[in-house]
Amino acid sequence: MPEGDTVWRAARQLDRALTGKTLTRTDLRVPAYATWDLSGGTVAETISRGKHLLTRIDADQRWTLHTHLKMEGGWRILRPGQRWPRPGHTARVVLETADTVAVGFQLGIVEIVARDDEPEIVGHLGPDLLGPDWDAAEAVRRLRDQPRRSVKDALLDQRNLAGIGNLYANELCFVAGVAPESAVGDVPDLPRLVGRAHQMLDLNRHRAVQSTTGDLARGRSTWVHARGGQPCRRCGTRIVETSLGPEGQERVTYHCPSCQPSG
Ligand SMILES: [Zn+2]
Repeated sequence: MPEGDTVWRAARQLDRALTGKTLTRTDLRVPAYATWDLSGGTVAETISRGKHLLTRIDADQRWTLHTHLKMEGGWRILRPGQRWPRPGHTARVVLETADTVAVGFQLGIVEIVARDDEPEIVGHLGPDLLGPDWDAAEAVRRLRDQPRRSVKDALLDQRNLAGIGNLYANELCFVAGVAPESAVGDVPDLPRLVGRAHQMLDLNRHRAVQSTTGDLARGRSTWVHARGGQPCRRCGTRIVETSLGPEGQERVTYHCPSCQPSG
């Protein structure tokens, strides 16, 4: 599942490739928009809000193409005629200009809304960790609103703060020294945890390898995430892998029972 920094990078790539250009062909391969044609429109910009991508297109009206990578999605920037890196049947959106073909594969959400209706899509989101208007105090306030909720679950809830996925949620619980199922109200220093969240995504947004340890080498880039059964980097205790979360939304969770005692 792409994290907020991955989505931010996708937005920047799309923005650099398309902004200011006229669309020569568009192909929306989802039933609800299959007949839509935005060719002739000009791409105003692409931004990310949390894990949502908003591509603003000025055509007969001011439209916003809203896409979301969900689990497996990705945008690729290609030249006309260049071979696609994924099977054609997995493409959901094709945006062509004179010199660029942007293809969105396996996107979890594809929809077009009027620009003025963007708040209906992203208005529920908490402060965007990588947004220009990032507001740490507001994120802390929203987290504190539900003090009995498990801290990992609360960090993943995009209504509290937007951009954290499973990797960062696992890592943040480790650096805070709290068990993932601990209550938010029991986190010793919530503002510091929120600060670390911002720092992690901000550091990683400009690089291809996500690292929370500062080490970019394969297998050394995380404290606990995807390290079930391996020794903790701090204390040597075996990292425990569990499944945690509300029913139907369970996520693979990793923690060190020594560094992150529960209760
Ligand atoms: Zn440990």
